[in-house]
Amino acid sequence: MAIARFKALELAQSRPTVPVKIPTEKVTDYYGSNTFNDEVMRSLLSPEAYLKITNAIEDGKKIDREAADEVAAAMKSWALSKGVTHYTHWFQPLTGTTAEKHDAFFDITGKGKAVEKFKGSALVQQEPDASSFPNGGIRSTFEARGYTAWDPSSPAFIMENVAGTATLCIPSVFVSYTGEALDYKTPLLKSSELIDKAATKVMNEYFSREVSKVSASVGIEQEYFLVDEALYNARPDLMMSGRTVFGHSPAKGQQLEDHYFGSIPSRVNAFMVDFELEALKLGMPVRTRHNEVAPAQFEVAPTFEEANLACDHNALLMDLMNKVAAKHKMRVLFHEKPFAGINGSGKHNNWSLATDTGVNLLGPSTKPKENLRFLTFFVNTIKAVHDYADLLRASIATAGNEHRLGANEAPPAIVSIFIGTEMTRVLNDLENLSEMHDIKLEKGDNVYLRLGINKIPALLLDNTDRNRTSPFAFTGNKFEFRAVGSSANSAAPMTILNTIVANQLLQFREEVDVYLEKGIKKELAIVEVLKKYVKQSRKILFEGNGYSEEWAEEASKRGLSNLKTAPEALTKYLEKSAIDLFSKHGIFNEIEMHARYEIEIENYIKKIQIESRVVGDLAINHIVSTSLKYQTQLVDNVRGQKEIGIDPQYYAPTIEIIKKISIYTAKINNLVDEMTEARKEANNVEDTAERARLYSTKVKNFLEEIRYCVDKLELIVDDDEWPLPKYRELLLIR
Ligand code: ADP
Ligand code: MG
Repeated sequence: MAIARFKALELAQSRPTVPVKIPTEKVTDYYGSNTFNDEVMRSLLSPEAYLKITNAIEDGKKIDREAADEVAAAMKSWALSKGVTHYTHWFQPLTGTTAEKHDAFFDITGKGKAVEKFKGSALVQQEPDASSFPNGGIRSTFEARGYTAWDPSSPAFIMENVAGTATLCIPSVFVSYTGEALDYKTPLLKSSELIDKAATKVMNEYFSREVSKVSASVGIEQEYFLVDEALYNARPDLMMSGRTVFGHSPAKGQQLEDHYFGSIPSRVNAFMVDFELEALKLGMPVRTRHNEVAPAQFEVAPTFEEANLACDHNALLMDLMNKVAAKHKMRVLFHEKPFAGINGSGKHNNWSLATDTGVNLLGPSTKPKENLRFLTFFVNTIKAVHDYADLLRASIATAGNEHRLGANEAPPAIVSIFIGTEMTRVLNDLENLSEMHDIKLEKGDNVYLRLGINKIPALLLDNTDRNRTSPFAFTGNKFEFRAVGSSANSAAPMTILNTIVANQLLQFREEVDVYLEKGIKKELAIVEVLKKYVKQSRKILFEGNGYSEEWAEEASKRGLSNLKTAPEALTKYLEKSAIDLFSKHGIFNEIEMHARYEIEIENYIKKIQIESRVVGDLAINHIVSTSLKYQTQLVDNVRGQKEIGIDPQYYAPTIEIIKKISIYTAKINNLVDEMTEARKEANNVEDTAERARLYSTKVKNFLEEIRYCVDKLELIVDDDEWPLPKYRELLLIR
């Protein structure tokens, strides 16, 4: 009997719901109570220091030593009053998780006395042991040191730990001694500054002098699965690689039975309420969606925020969910494809641009003049995605997301844009406008009427259903980048998107200015350039079913890339056009681009390597051994039947099963040997790109082949003996 599996099942099924203490106050009373937010700063800082820090937040101005000391002192007393004992710089290294290095607030003086200590210098900068974080070769050649530096634009927060203690977390960037970024936040901040500059310029020159700042707004819908902790622990593959490498999925098209997966189970509900509460205290505007796309799959969608905050909050939310889930004896699976044959998980990044005057630049309006503004940002975004689709694809390229992109229930690896019927019509009209010089404006003529720009409906129909198959969809007042993987750090794709759109807006301005210099009316000049962009970007627009095979064919005819594997996609970071783009705008220099490539490609290799080892171990030690034991029972049984003279026709089917077990176990043994050999060969290759290619083309395929045999055995071997919790058990969470 497979004791571990049944013990786990018993535990999972008998778990009580962990009660959640609901505060008696209103949400507004505790929202953000664990953050060192504006209100706290205003009450604790001198007016001068407060002004300096708000300037730092809004304009990225440097904070001087004095102000830093004052902020540190205020932060310390605020934190101590809330029972906090430690502080840490909280940052996002390129491992994909968040990192912390906790220091105690207290220090020992020479006389053996403890004093509370936290100076401005400790707030502003720390030096974690950087050697344990990936650097893509940046530091190994030069200096092994890295620094974290305070990002005042993201509020410090208190993270409560399981032991009942709490830590003050200070959001920080992480850079090498030589100044290269070693994290996700640094380039995102730079890209936000860039898009502010570019979009503000366009606004000021063509639409409004009042705007002094434009920021990218990002709303992140996070999908995830929940699994009981005991069942999770009984699946070494989930523990090691975050996904099930084996497991017979319900037959295609067959719905998992309703009674398993009806309403939200109370344990899950308690978990959701609990993490929502904690998130609200941390100032995260969560709106939990209790919908399940697949069994045991859920989604949380906070309200959008400024890009840097939204990305920090998403990373923090993932941390928080892990912590709270542990309290509820569950595990959160952020892997893009934890279960074969069942919907994967994404992280939809909704993106738009907002001015400091409160205008959503991707929101259509009832006023024609405002619609020219809307069209400007709308079309420029399309053009940017058209020109740099490969970079967007590279920004979401991971081993996990490879399972999702192009699989039949996720956006394809082909980047295209869905804009809906109404916007399609608007762009068609725009493209068919006569040449600008043919538009003769009479005195009193309404230029917008003549341009047809008065006709955009302010409320665009929500095309959610059809846009589901698109990796990049316009959803009424924002673009939704749906192809981002659920485990990703959103800062990576958002950095790329900000940069390419900013670059495009700068180019747009140059092109419009050429017409303006010729004395052409502003509106006509803008329309003329937009019209050209629509023509040039046509091939990226696609309204049909992105999952269909016809689309792959059509896309290839259109000359769109279809980069199916992560290694292929990642090489796009190394192309000259990419390096030029990023270095021109100071987002990444060439060294940083190479480093990022190296890190991502090494992550990829590591992931496949781990999966391959897990598959080998489990297949041999769990599956083959169990199957052979069961086979021996069958052999004994047949022998017995023969002995007592049963007609052979009755045990012939059992012999068939015995044969099948022989066939599959032998096949598994051989495949595991071959896979180990392929891994060895790949590991011997020095060049990382080539090693990744080998893992992708010579190792990965074995995972599927071995899985096929194992899943067949799962259908044959006695259920009592099967060592791994089955899909229906993993997905049954109550
Ligand atoms: P639904 O998709 O159910 O209609 P919404 O459209 O309100 O829901 O929002 C989906 C996601 O898009 C949410 O995370 C939301 O915060 C985000 N979102 C809405 N408006 C914007 C915007 N202007 N910029 C960025 N994200 C946005
Ligand atoms: Mg959505």
